[in-house]
Amino acid sequence: MVVSKISNEYKDWIKDKVDENKALCEKYPFLYPRNVFTDILPDDYDYSYTWLDEMPDGWRVAFGERMCSEIRDALARADCLRDYRIYQIKEKFGELRWYSNYETDEVGDIITKYSYISGFICIVCGKPYPNARMVNTAWISPYCKECYNGSDYDSISSKNDISNSITISGYRNGQRTERHIDIKNTWDFIVSDYNKLHGG
Ligand SMILES: [Zn+2]
Repeated sequence: MVVSKISNEYKDWIKDKVDENKALCEKYPFLYPRNVFTDILPDDYDYSYTWLDEMPDGWRVAFGERMCSEIRDALARADCLRDYRIYQIKEKFGELRWYSNYETDEVGDIITKYSYISGFICIVCGKPYPNARMVNTAWISPYCKECYNGSDYDSISSKNDISNSITISGYRNGQRTERHIDIKNTWDFIVSDYNKLHGG
């Protein structure tokens, strides 16, 4: 006979997580973890996870919901909130990668903005720092000094300043296009959120 040893604390934790995830999916329907090939939400889906769980903890704390909210608003303006689908969220070369289908140009710019910003935010604890320290361990990832587990932090990390805006250039219909994406505004919000959370 198997005796259940799930503690009440654990049950409470699960319940909180489920409530939190239900609220997230209601606000941001693209966070439902639909099967990326069949587009089906499993029958037994119990809200124990959402797409946002794929985002590294530090980035999620620093800007996860802010990013979802911007994407939702852009999709709603273009009347395509229901069609939008995420198919992968991960870290690559020290930056966020957020892959999706049916995105608009505006959503593409939001993803580009947060991917750039993620390189200036500790992937573990969410600490923002405008002089990026890209620490080369087995791969390159942004760690703050407190979260980097090694004594050689200063010698292997490199420094470059975050830009106030970034420029995306490309070609469309044979015409050269250039778009400027504002960084500073969002960055200031992230720093302010972090300071509020940490009593700064
Ligand atoms: Zn950190």
